[in-house]
Amino acid sequence: MTGLQFDNTFVRELDGLYERWSARTAPDPDLVVLNDALAQELGADPDDLRSPAGVDLLVGNAVPAGADPVAQAYAGHQFGGYSPRLGDGRALLLGEVITAADDRVDLHLKGSGRTPFARGGDGLAALAPMLREYLMCEAMHALGVPTTRGLAVVATGDSVTRETLLPGAVFVRVASSHLRVGTFQYAASLDDPSMLARLIDHSISRHAPSAATAERPALALLDAVIDVQADLIARWMSIGFIHGVMNTDNMTISGETIDYGPCAFMDVYDPATVFSSIDHGGRYAFGNQPQIGLWNLARLAETLLAFIDPDQDTAVELATGRLEEFPTRFRARWSELMATKLGLAAVPTDDAELADDLLAVLHESGADFTSAFRSLSAAADGDEQPLRSLVGDVDGIDSWLERWQAARAAGSSTAVEMNAVNPIYVPRNHLVDEALNAATTGDLAPFTTLLDVLQQPFTEQSGRHRFAEPAPADFASSFRTFCGT
Ligand code: AMP
Ligand code: MG
Repeated sequence: MTGLQFDNTFVRELDGLYERWSARTAPDPDLVVLNDALAQELGADPDDLRSPAGVDLLVGNAVPAGADPVAQAYAGHQFGGYSPRLGDGRALLLGEVITAADDRVDLHLKGSGRTPFARGGDGLAALAPMLREYLMCEAMHALGVPTTRGLAVVATGDSVTRETLLPGAVFVRVASSHLRVGTFQYAASLDDPSMLARLIDHSISRHAPSAATAERPALALLDAVIDVQADLIARWMSIGFIHGVMNTDNMTISGETIDYGPCAFMDVYDPATVFSSIDHGGRYAFGNQPQIGLWNLARLAETLLAFIDPDQDTAVELATGRLEEFPTRFRARWSELMATKLGLAAVPTDDAELADDLLAVLHESGADFTSAFRSLSAAADGDEQPLRSLVGDVDGIDSWLERWQAARAAGSSTAVEMNAVNPIYVPRNHLVDEALNAATTGDLAPFTTLLDVLQQPFTEQSGRHRFAEPAPADFASSFRTFCGT
């Protein structure tokens, strides 16, 4: 009835990496938000999904025709410590949907009840964190960052016990797959080499088809994942995004951002910024993200060695060679992104030193990251005041502006073009908090407005100035984010 066309290659090809399972029954489902445009991309009629039968499908009360729901198994390094068996403790892969454009995407429920991987967890999710994931991933999508997507959030009618009783909800996620570095770690830990062989083939066919005909397909797969992750993390770094929990189970093979638990946007520029309440050592601080990306990729490489070459030393040498390229690939991608943010025609030959030096000025002055980059458009038009008022009389701003104007001399982009890459609106922590607090008490209006603002992050919207403003200082200094809520 919904028009969704299911297929289940994960289930057909990767027996051993999942448990067949069904969602618990939600007593009183209520659709809180639906992504009409994404529903249409999937080939579904949004009105059908809004009907009682559609909502039953979205919340997990009814299994759609053709779906074969499973809880996926994976392992993972969490904050550097290895957990051999994590898996979907409160989530299900309903199946793969063949989209209107003939792409294959996963349709996934989060908060749909305990599974065989639940360990001590209750299998549930509260409404506010599920709305948070929806909001953050849709904001990231609008910002042009590869990401898993939000199709819907459905309140279940249940209460969830956290510090207090909270309304429960299911988040409906769409992703090009849910294959993670941790999926490879889990497959590698099984007493069955064919499991990993099948996972490699499956991953290549979904995410790196050209690797199939490479001389060493497993090495080519590693290479492809290194590329997409270098690109992804460079994009995060270009917009001030802190993922917050870059465990290997939260890093995709597809190169999409996944798991929006404790993520947050940085306001005042400081590479040491950490918001997550459990990240005491600052392992996943803003400035550490490229190194952690590489560390995770090394864990992926370890699982692939036997498939790269039967000789261990040769395999290690080949994999290490690719991993060693990560910093260069990351830096090249970051420099390109920064050059466009600075409105330069090309990456400067001094390897983006100009961008590094602006960041140093922002750090020194405690300026707001998003506002500072946005203010460069005015400066490009001859009005340096907005940037100067953000950085104050910090040393180095005069000489930086001079060098920047000189670098812009040849064929640089206009203020309008710069506005198309430097967002005016990002999901600022105080705005997100305000919207979620209201939603928890039943008032969805602030959430709906914020979501609407964030759909067009590069376009100034009249009457919405407060959405571009940094948080009050007392809010920012005490703000914390949480995992697994
Ligand atoms: P995350 O921090 O969301 O990446 O989750 C890490 C692991 O904990 C995954 O295996 C989740 O499925 C599991 N998990 C998180 N919250 C719950 C919960 N409430 N019930 C069961 N499993 C959970
Ligand atoms: Mg996770």
